Amino acid sequence: MTSLKTQASCDDSNEKGTITVSEAQQNILSAITSIGGLEKIHILQAVGRVLAETIISPINVPSHCNSAVDGYAISQNDLAGGDETKELKVITKVVAGHPFEGTLKSGQAIQIMTGAQMPANCDTVIMQEHVERHGDVIRIDGRHKAGQNVRQAGEDIQQGTTTLEPGAKLTPPQIGLIASLGFTEITVKVPLRVTVFSTGDEILNIGEAPREGCIYDSNRYSLIAALKKLGCHVTDMGIIADEPRQLKKAFLLASKTADVILTSGGVSVGDADYTKQVLSETGEMNFWKVAMKPGRPMAFGKIGGATFFGLPGNPVAVMVTFYQFALPALQKMTGANQPLVSPLISARCTSPIRKLPGRAEFQRGVLSQNEQGVWQVCTTGQQGSGVLRSMSEANAFIILEHEQTSVKEGEWVNTQPFSGLF
Ligand code: AMP
Ligand code: MG
Repeated sequence: MTSLKTQASCDDSNEKGTITVSEAQQNILSAITSIGGLEKIHILQAVGRVLAETIISPINVPSHCNSAVDGYAISQNDLAGGDETKELKVITKVVAGHPFEGTLKSGQAIQIMTGAQMPANCDTVIMQEHVERHGDVIRIDGRHKAGQNVRQAGEDIQQGTTTLEPGAKLTPPQIGLIASLGFTEITVKVPLRVTVFSTGDEILNIGEAPREGCIYDSNRYSLIAALKKLGCHVTDMGIIADEPRQLKKAFLLASKTADVILTSGGVSVGDADYTKQVLSETGEMNFWKVAMKPGRPMAFGKIGGATFFGLPGNPVAVMVTFYQFALPALQKMTGANQPLVSPLISARCTSPIRKLPGRAEFQRGVLSQNEQGVWQVCTTGQQGSGVLRSMSEANAFIILEHEQTSVKEGEWVNTQPFSGLF
């Protein structure tokens, strides 16, 4: 056979000039700084947003000593000792929100409901299930301890405590915590402004009539859906033809208002792939062949003040590169100070997977627990980078590391559940 002088491609492992997934991640993160804009919003609008102030508690939470149970408030001096039982006279009943103005005397008890303020001279509560009551007299035995079943003022948060620091990406319990301090509004970072467009002469908008040789745009929709879920402010710039002048116009327009520009398609080595060229004419361009499958070619750079991600065109490659590269960058840009947690779960692979060393692979799989509770994963069948179904039917990535070779049935692999990502 005559040997041809060909070029290295994504089919070749260890192709020269490629970088690893973690190198690409590091390159990106080291170029990212957090955005500056702030706004004051109602706390109910603030879940998922990044806090931009220090929350110092103006009050004690709870503000008063109160009962942790329904029962009887007494003084510890009236506790029964050892095998003894004791009788106490119930003088009144207090419920939450209606403090008792009087004072308990020796030999007395006050019926008290959960959350009601502890009356003067009371420091201990006996659960109502642990007394015998006859008319207005209760009998208690010797099992109780001084101070039991009482929540002290400031037990949750003391007045003056730093409760939350800037950079907290606010979770539902944190919203509740802020509410417990009485705040209505808080200062947070503004949402990231992300502009998205697709490139390609063959790409159709949904709603358009089908055309010979064309396909409907899916990338813009999966990306916008992901960005909306992350709380970004999204601008949809539609589809740009494979035409350098139009691309240049779109890039420059987007860079005027966006913190981030996300495009898909046009970054490989085809005749109609202009993204790299136009990015280098309009801003700073890095182009990487990342040793990964899917998602090898990727452009990253800056146009004016906007960070630019030129993701590949194939729909699965778009999703993989978005979650592995763009997402950590977006998180860093928001100023969130907790690392993104998308834990890996080790699972038994229920079928063999062919794999060459020299590139990482992000296969799509269904992760579950078998009857013995052991994590297992199977791939979603055909794994082509254009087969979006392989991802929509999956609930996890099967991450095969750079140097890993083929996986045998029953071997353990790392999986990354989508629930930690989207
Ligand atoms: P490209 O990198 O532009 O050559 O695109 C690679 C493959 O992805 C081609 O088969 C394109 O038709 C496809 N593709 C590009 N953009 C999109 C899109 N927005 N939605 C669906 N498929 C796309
Ligand atoms: Mg294209």
